Amino acid sequence: MQKKHKIIIVGAGPIGLYLASLCQEKEIDYLLLESSDHVGGQLINLYPEKDIVDIPGIESIKAKDYIALLVSKIDPDKVRCSVTVQSISKYKEDVKVITSDATYVSEYIALATGLGFSKPRPMGVEGEENTPNIIYSIKEYNHLKNKKVAILGGGDSALDWARTLSKISDGISLIHRRTEFRGNPETIKGCKNLAIYLPYVPYSITKENGLAKVLIIEQVETKQHIDIPVDYIFVNYGNIPASTQFELDYDANFVKVDEHLFAAEHIFAIGDLASYENKKRRIAPGNEEARKIINIII
Ligand SMILES: Cc1cc2nc3c(=O)[nH]c(=O)nc-3n(C[C@H](O)[C@H](O)[C@H](O)COP(=O)(O)OP(=O)(O)OC[C@H]3O[C@@H](n4cnc5c(N)ncnc54)[C@H](O)[C@@H]3O)c2cc1C
Repeated sequence: MQKKHKIIIVGAGPIGLYLASLCQEKEIDYLLLESSDHVGGQLINLYPEKDIVDIPGIESIKAKDYIALLVSKIDPDKVRCSVTVQSISKYKEDVKVITSDATYVSEYIALATGLGFSKPRPMGVEGEENTPNIIYSIKEYNHLKNKKVAILGGGDSALDWARTLSKISDGISLIHRRTEFRGNPETIKGCKNLAIYLPYVPYSITKENGLAKVLIIEQVETKQHIDIPVDYIFVNYGNIPASTQFELDYDANFVKVDEHLFAAEHIFAIGDLASYENKKRRIAPGNEEARKIINIII
């Protein structure tokens, strides 16, 4: 049977981490999920070297050191990075958290997703969602060895990947919507195993057992179609910023909460994400919200 957590914390910025440290201290069962490959949120992404001087009880601390301090107080086994929470829903007495690779069940959820994350720009064809062999980032690429990979995009990143993967794959198809690449074409000069399609756009996919098997591309001017058999489609179109990620009540990009910080039954929102009267988007008030949650769930 699936393990049910007391609380799942979504977002490992300073507020999610602080809440995790309180759970650790109070021996409350928790799981912390973070979409990027590192914790720390804005402090690491935007101002790691800046001194923070307004956290009560801490005189002055560099942002990155504050995050390291919080990390030292939590169990690393209870933190999962590179896991994006895609949706949440109420399920009988529990809440369900659906991530990019699994579903988790808990009694409570605390959303601490702050400014949100950037999500990959999709290819934009029907049936693209929930197709595991359509990928938007590559963390390690052993599974692409001896596979047919279609890469969509024309920037430096797409060209770099085309060169790297062409050395191990069973054929790379590089597809870009313009007649010239935006990235430096020298990158792919001399690459074997590489077919280039300019100017083409993805038109549709043919799926088999839930996986994309053929990518059909369309020539931008002539509208002529080409079928490309694929094992993987790597969409390299960059990111779009996320705003309203969850089906909750929003005030602009922020989630409205009641006086107990509930955004919905058993679902809290804290930190920068939360919206209520006179809300201050700073660390100290966010930490206070985390303490409030602990008092409710304990
Ligand atoms: C330049 C600058 C300087 C600042 N200086 C100070 C200061 O000196 N003192 C102070 O008190 N405050 C300061 N702030 C404000 C402070 O940084 C924020 O209040 C704080 O970062 C909010 O923390 P958070 O955890 O709510 O959100 P964030 O820091 O935004 O973290 C949210 C985390 O959630 C993750 N996430 C988002 N969506 C998902 C998802 N669907 N699934 C999983 N994970 C997800 C993100 O990747 C991110 O790691 C400053 C802000 C800026 C921009």
